[in-house]
Amino acid sequence: MNSSQNSRKENQSLKHGYFEGVNIPDYERILNCIRCGMCLPHCPTYRELKVERASPRGRAALVRSVADGRLELTRNFAEQMYLCLDCRACETACPSGVRIGYLIESARSQVEQNMRRNPIVRLLKDFLFGWLFLRHWRLEMAAFPLRIYQRSGLQKLLHGVGFMKLLPKRLQFMEALAPRGLTTPFRHTLPDVVPARGEEKARVGYFLGCMMSMMFNKTTNATVNVLNRSACTVVTPKAIRCCGAPLLSEGYKKKAIELMRFNIDLFDKLDVDYIVTDCAACAAACKEYEEIFEDDPAYREKAKRFSGKMREITEFLAEWPHAAKVEKQPFDSPKKVIYDEPCHLCHAQQVWKQPKQVIRRVPGVDLVDLPESEWCCGSAGVYNVTHYDMAMKILDRKMDNIESTGADVVLTCNPGCLLQLDYGVREKKLPMEVKHIVELLDDGTGFTNGQVGGKENLQSDKCPTCGKTPRPECQ
Ligand code: SF4
Ligand code: SF4
Repeated sequence: MNSSQNSRKENQSLKHGYFEGVNIPDYERILNCIRCGMCLPHCPTYRELKVERASPRGRAALVRSVADGRLELTRNFAEQMYLCLDCRACETACPSGVRIGYLIESARSQVEQNMRRNPIVRLLKDFLFGWLFLRHWRLEMAAFPLRIYQRSGLQKLLHGVGFMKLLPKRLQFMEALAPRGLTTPFRHTLPDVVPARGEEKARVGYFLGCMMSMMFNKTTNATVNVLNRSACTVVTPKAIRCCGAPLLSEGYKKKAIELMRFNIDLFDKLDVDYIVTDCAACAAACKEYEEIFEDDPAYREKAKRFSGKMREITEFLAEWPHAAKVEKQPFDSPKKVIYDEPCHLCHAQQVWKQPKQVIRRVPGVDLVDLPESEWCCGSAGVYNVTHYDMAMKILDRKMDNIESTGADVVLTCNPGCLLQLDYGVREKKLPMEVKHIVELLDDGTGFTNGQVGGKENLQSDKCPTCGKTPRPECQ
């Protein structure tokens, strides 16, 4: 990799045009854009707005203008950088290898360092990305009132009296996004080590993502069950921290690097052959550690080892020769399923065929094509909250495509996509379920060694308030 390709490392340059300080976008990388326009038909924001500045080519040109000293760091510049979903669809389409994701993240870092921001926005962002995301317990503490709100019956009451309809659309959306029936985070109930069922063929470090631990107990239980039945001993370091992706994406690179160093050290001490996660976005971020620490002599080798071991769960199972056979049909009757591809799996990691290979192994499941399956659903980290209107336009199109298939089940493998698609299905009142792929592979037998981790703690399929199976029209 030559110097121009050292795109994600900590850039020590002090000034380039109006860029100043650390994480200045690498100029040679900016020049890689040959302005061919092949990325334009693949960009969701360009498709919606039809203006050059909202396209990958336009964003690369804006970054170049600032680097050339022709454009100051203005509010408009910041808006365009943050309007990007960081979905990387343009990177898949680009014949010149332009890394728009990198340019956007560097430009956002510059905005956060060098631009005057609204003090309330600054305070909120510093709280979220400079404090809250840095430790699991802080996130868990912040999510605790939500659990109380759901379990106390307050949620049901407020919906019953129609109070929620009085709130602004964006608040209604945020309230509706969280999955129902939240329970104790999986981090607190999963044993540190779950021995392989039968002969151990590999030791796997489980990278338990923040969102997966807090909101998707059923999925995380399924992941450990499937790895366990696939001759893997599962080792979960509970001190794990956020992968750093949300911070990197919001321009808090310095804090993201701290988290990454911690995770690298944590897993480096473990004797594991692979590191597996059921969060596509975590997998994408973790695979980039190698590149980010390329110029850091203390972390270069450790980061390379870490990234080299990282696998997204379906990627791992598709290639793992001891993957447990799926004997049991997961549904009462055969179902038509579709797969919606997380951007951070297909575009950021170029993992395309493995999830489908895994789905096709499941009996009683008919996988049919979803039009535009590789297009973003509009979730994109906190984008659906910060850019609600654009996110909803993108989701609308996704839901139209989903509805056109007439499927019974929508499958994906990323927490943000699961929340966004589940919201879309409920809003549109479609008779569909939304599931993580790994849930189809769970035979319900728990884990070995008598530690059926969190079996009592599974996120219930039943409504926590009325106890019945939720209907599409249920809120
Ligand atoms: S496809 Fe790549 S090189 Fe062509 S305009 Fe888009 S970013 Fe530039
Ligand atoms: S990352 Fe996605 S939203 Fe951003 S410029 Fe590329 S295609 Fe468009």
